Amino acid sequence: MTSIPTHSLLLAVPLAGVACSGSEAPAAQPAERLLIDGGTVVVMDDAGTILEGGAVLVEGDRIAGLFDRAAPRPAGIPTLDATGQLVIPGLINTHGHAAMSLLRGLADDLPLMEWLEQNIFPAEAELVAPDFVYWGTLLSSIEMLKSGTTTFTDMYYFPDDVARATIEAGIRAVVGPNVIGFPAPDFETPEESLAEADAFMERYRDHPLLIAGTAAHALYTTPLEPTRAAFEVAERHNAPFQIHVVEARDEDERIEAAIGMRTIDALDSIGALRPGTVLAHGTYLSDEDIRKVAAGGAGVAHNPESNMKLGGDRAAPVEVLLAAGVPVGLGTDGPASNNDLDMFGEMDTAAKLHKFATGDPTALPAETVFRMATTYGARVLNQQDHIGSLDVGKKADIVLVETRRAGMTPLYRPYSQLVYVTRGSDVRTVLVNGRIVVRDGEITTVNEDEVMEKARGFADQIREVVARVKAQAK
Ligand SMILES: [Zn+2]
Repeated sequence: MTSIPTHSLLLAVPLAGVACSGSEAPAAQPAERLLIDGGTVVVMDDAGTILEGGAVLVEGDRIAGLFDRAAPRPAGIPTLDATGQLVIPGLINTHGHAAMSLLRGLADDLPLMEWLEQNIFPAEAELVAPDFVYWGTLLSSIEMLKSGTTTFTDMYYFPDDVARATIEAGIRAVVGPNVIGFPAPDFETPEESLAEADAFMERYRDHPLLIAGTAAHALYTTPLEPTRAAFEVAERHNAPFQIHVVEARDEDERIEAAIGMRTIDALDSIGALRPGTVLAHGTYLSDEDIRKVAAGGAGVAHNPESNMKLGGDRAAPVEVLLAAGVPVGLGTDGPASNNDLDMFGEMDTAAKLHKFATGDPTALPAETVFRMATTYGARVLNQQDHIGSLDVGKKADIVLVETRRAGMTPLYRPYSQLVYVTRGSDVRTVLVNGRIVVRDGEITTVNEDEVMEKARGFADQIREVVARVKAQAK
């Protein structure tokens, strides 16, 4: 990290109108301004700049200036006091299934296939409908925003209902049609689910929050042809494409037996290993796979807590991937397999898992892990020009973390504190696109009590359905 004690580096970017501000009222649509001042600004630029007592100027939906302690502030701008807080880029969750929050804790401590095939898939087949998806996604969006996540990547059903929930909550999200090789809650066949895919992508083109993208569930559930078709929709729209890859030890053998190719070779054969393709998990990627992924430019979403909970017997080869130049982000996976969406917890786990797995205490240092949750995550989604750091010109997705508690004191190294100490509940303020969506720890955009009430209602239905499905199976 680099601390910059003076304003000699001229981090403050001159803005038209700032020098004489105070009564500024430019004729054309004045963008709202906010100065976040007095905190420790963890910029996450390439140099690793940290500004003690610094400030971030927000203008409209963008970051318009950075100031160190000594730099003169523009006058007359509403100020948010960040004293005692870390000011960080919004966290990026690169893999999950948001609406599955309604299934959180329904079935745990089971092997992956038993968990999926005997519990999650039957419950989903009976229950997942637009309403379920909308309320489940809202519930997760609240949890994510309140714990500092400003962008998440979703793979689920009924994408218009996911979109509606995320936009209402005010969170940035990668959302879109998802193909799977058996009848899904929203469509009977992959072909049906792709019939409207181009229209979906068009509908959200240039949306300020929603990043439209497509997904195929996995090659063990979805044949290669619909996977290719889903990828090609993403390719036509220069959009992210997601797929689960080699999450289980025997997965590649099963896929090779079915289609004559291993996962990464199959994806390579359809051109899908390009930047903006999100390979979720990648736990059992071989060195040869990693060379191919690096050559293609795809990214990996590492989900350490989900992998550990579902009994993976190795850690994903994150350091090998990073050394090969593959962007690796962090993901929580769905809240039914984690069981929370707190990216601070995920960072802590990632940093420790790789030290444990390798016996090397220098593996995945805190700064690297924090990059996985920010700048590297942005690269995984091919959104690095817009999000992931507090660089001037990027979207104003900003999180303020309170440090004035015993467990956060003293504070020597912000990255250590952020990865090993901070919890989602330490987040006080969150901006997405320059809009305050969490203030003093409370969501400002939607009624959290109402959403929780709805979620409890769904849980009552889910209990009944699962009891009936299990009784019928006997
Ligand atoms: Zn997943």
